[in-house]
Formats: sequence, structure tokens, C-alpha cells
Amino acid sequence: MSSSAATVTTLGHYIGGAVRKPSAEANTGDVFNPATGAVTGKVALATQADVDAAVAAAKAAFPAWSCTAPLRRARILMKFRELLEAHRDELAAIITSEHGKVFSDASGEVTRGIEVVEFAMNAPHLLTGSHSDNIGGGIDNWNLRQPLGVVAGITPFNFPVMVPMWMFPVALACGNTFVLKPSERDPSASLLVAELLKRAGLPDGVFNVLQGDKFAVDGLLAHPDVQALSFVGSTPIAEYLYAEASRRGKRVQALGGAKNHMVVMPDADLDQAVDALVGAAYGSAGERCMAISVAVAVGDVADTLVAGLAEKARRLVIGNGMESRAEMGPLITAAHKAKVERYIEKGIAEGAELVVDGRGLKVPGHENGFFTGGTLFDKVRPGMTIYEEEIFGPVLSIVRVPDLATALELVNAHEFGNGAACFTRDGATAREFSRRVQAGMVGINVPIPVPMAWHSFGGWKRSLFGDTHAYGEEGVRFYTRYKSIMQRWPDSASKGPEFVMPTAQ
Ligand code: NAD
Repeated sequence: MSSSAATVTTLGHYIGGAVRKPSAEANTGDVFNPATGAVTGKVALATQADVDAAVAAAKAAFPAWSCTAPLRRARILMKFRELLEAHRDELAAIITSEHGKVFSDASGEVTRGIEVVEFAMNAPHLLTGSHSDNIGGGIDNWNLRQPLGVVAGITPFNFPVMVPMWMFPVALACGNTFVLKPSERDPSASLLVAELLKRAGLPDGVFNVLQGDKFAVDGLLAHPDVQALSFVGSTPIAEYLYAEASRRGKRVQALGGAKNHMVVMPDADLDQAVDALVGAAYGSAGERCMAISVAVAVGDVADTLVAGLAEKARRLVIGNGMESRAEMGPLITAAHKAKVERYIEKGIAEGAELVVDGRGLKVPGHENGFFTGGTLFDKVRPGMTIYEEEIFGPVLSIVRVPDLATALELVNAHEFGNGAACFTRDGATAREFSRRVQAGMVGINVPIPVPMAWHSFGGWKRSLFGDTHAYGEEGVRFYTRYKSIMQRWPDSASKGPEFVMPTAQ
């Protein structure tokens, strides 16, 4: 069921401190409420004129913003933080209505975004350089971290508030101006964020929202005034963005997809492990880059683990995320639901044992929603499509292995290396796992180890293209250029030119 086109509004861009209405010739995309299947809005897809306007607004705002004292920039972020708290429920409701995740989870997403704003409020401290007095001959040497200019952020549908906030608070704190290209699937939250930034006192043009699809992304990639791009999304697009941006000499960090494994050792607390797996596999319908999609059962834990997981997967409360009882909501689109269910068919065809089948789920009162139930496969093996590929849905695969060494080999051989977890009661096992596992973020008895705002977020292998992780100190490094200054104030008459390499005197 979809509402008539006459009743839905078209969401525009936010450029130079105001909403920019889409031009008549611009294409639009549908925005759905995934729980009902209804079209709730249209979103403008940027034209070249929109791309140019967004970058021009950001470029015009850069000279004044980059010269604004870091403490004054920080004070705007402090005010922004207060406004985010005040509008938390509104933001969370927007997330739930366009993404589908349950309201409490959406609220948690806002919290994790706020934490990065809190980190960025330390701008004066983050931008402190180091100074060496009198390195020789009356010369001092110190370093500065200077902003890059106009930077762009391109973000995925699954965290429409948090992932943009991995980027722009740090970029702005460092003195850059920003063009955000949010996902066209859930574009509304970014417009409220832009409005809150303006109300916090952010000068017009410092933060801009460019709605759109590949055309907008390619426009930002090609634009000579965009100095750097941060991307979060699927691996093929991350790789494309990294290659295209690097080819053009732009700075780029591109975070991609994942297939996160959780290793359950024979000595683990199995009740805890089951609960952790259920939340990490089915929370947000598995549409998290840190979701656990593979449970590696070591030794004889497999049968107990599968029985515990099957029981809880069958009992998941699935429904509209605005209902307080709901534990899991729908998938983002009908097309994505169909794709996830095709993966399930493929899993069966390739010989995995389907223990709980979530296909064809109908939620009473929401028959047109994009729901797939929690799905559990046992006896999954490397080489099977459901093991190798990111499904990005509520599908958990169990792989059985004899020991920790085999578990580590398995995790390390996978092409993705975003997060990995190990459940154990043994310190030596935990230490061995943490040190040897090839993943950027590791949890010991923590299923989803998303680093705090002052540590940085990023995976290894084909989960990240580029060398800096998002937010934290790595974010500051990404959004600033390092400059080293040497200074001498001669106090005597010239000694004439020097032709040897300067060394400490
Ligand atoms: P996506 O790659 O389809 O889209 C991400 C962004 O790229 C969107 O803004 C989209 O408009 C744009 N885009 C899409 N196709 C493009 C193309 N051909 N050329 C240029 N730009 C294009 O990802 P998604 O479906 O929105 O999000 C889910 C993916 O994001 C999953 O793979 C998930 O693992 C990943 N993700 C990763 C992290 C991480 O930190 N590593 C975090 C969140 C999500």
C-alpha cells in the first residue's frame, strides 16, 4: 500500500543555512515507512547545480569558520549537544519511521552520536600542537594541525544520525566546512540535524545537506573544491570511492561491509553467550555493520548453543518499532527483504541446516511491512554463499570448529575484518584471541565492541579502505593537515649564507 503522491512532500537539500527546494527537473526517490510499506515522502536527488551550490556554500563559509577560535567552535557544539538531548525523541522517532529499527535502539543511536559531539567539544585540546624550544641556533620548531577546507561525508541507511555524527562534529571542530550526502532511504534526520546546528549558532554554509544518490556522490568526487571524503557503506562502493578519490588526489577514508564472527569457547557462560548472540544478530534486524552474523561454536558447545538460540529466535517480538514491546523491526525496503530471503534459499540449496526460518513473516496489522523473521542456520561452512557474503539481515550462521586455533584461522581467512568477539572465561584465551585476530575492533565477552568516541572506529581488510579510522584521534588526524614550523629571530648581524644541512648547534 502506498499513499497517493499528492499527500507526500518532497524533502529538499539544506544549503547555506536554508532548505533548498528541489528543482523541477530533479529526479526524486521514494521514502518508505518500512513497518507499513507506505511511501511517506519523496526525496530530491541532487542535480549538478545542487552539488555545485552545496560545495560553493561550504567553500564560502570556510575562511571565517577556519579562523574562528577553536573554543568558540566548541561552544557551538556544546549548544548543539544540548539541542540534541532536547530533540532526542523526535530524532529517534524519525529514525524509526524511515529505517524501521525499534525506538529504544534509535534512541541509543542518538546517544552514540552525541558522544562524538562531546568528544569534538574538546576542540582546543584536540588541536594542541607540540613545541620544541631552541632546537639549535636560536630556532624553535613546532607543529600545527590545520583544517583541510570543504570535506564531504557519504553515509549509509542503517545509522542515519550516528554515522554522520562520526564525521561532521570532528570535521567542524577542526575548522572544516562540511557537505553531508545522507542515504536516500532515510533522509529526514539530516535535515533536523542541520536545523539544530543552525539554532546552536553554526554560521550558514558550514554544514550542508545534499540529498541524492550515485550522481551526487560522483559530483562530490569530481568537484575540485572538495578536499576529502569520508564514506561509510557497502564494500563495493567503499572501494570505488577510495579508488576514485585517491586517483584525484583527495584524502579519503572509506568504511565498508562486514561479516562479524563471535567465537564461543567451551568454557564460556553459555546463557550469556546466547543472549549476546540474539541481541547482536537480530537487533536492528541485523542491519548493523557490527552485527554478529557468524557464531563459531568451539568444541562441544554447538548443540547447546543452537538449542538456546533457536528457542530465542522463535520467540523474538517482531513488529513496528514504535511499539514498546517490539524487539526487532522490519528491513529497510521490499527489495532488501527479497534479497535477504534469497540468501536464505541459497543457504538451504548449498546444504546448510535451516533451524529457524524467518521467511514470509507477516506481522498482524502490518501485512505490507518489510519483515523477515529471525533466521538461524547450523552447520554452515566456508565457501557457502551465506558464509562468505554480507547478508545485512536477521540471519545467523553457526560454524562448528574443534578448537581456538581453527576458529582464529576461520575468522582471519574471511575477507572482512570489521569486528570480532570471543566469549570465554579464560584470560589466556582472551589474550591470545585479541592479539591474533585480524579485525579492527575486538570484544571479549562483549558482542558488539563499538569503540567509544575518544577511541576510533574502523575495521581491517576489506572493511576499510584508507588508513585512518573514524572519529577519536584518528578522526582529528584525518580532518587536519600537519604543518611543521621552524622559526628564528636573529638577534645579530648576518653571518652570511650557510651551505651545509642544518643540524643542532
Ligand atoms: P551503500 O553502499 O548502498 O550506500 C552508502 C552510500 O553510498 C549512500 O549514501 C548511497 O547513496 C551511496 N551510493 C550507493 N550506491 C552508490 C554508487 N554506485 N556510487 C556512489 N555512491 C553510491 O550502503 P547502504 O546499503 O546504505 O548501507 C549498508 C552497508 O553499509 C552495509 O554493507 C554495512 O556493512 C555498511 N556499513 C558499514 C559501516 C562501517 O563502519 N564499516 C557502518 C555502517 C554501515
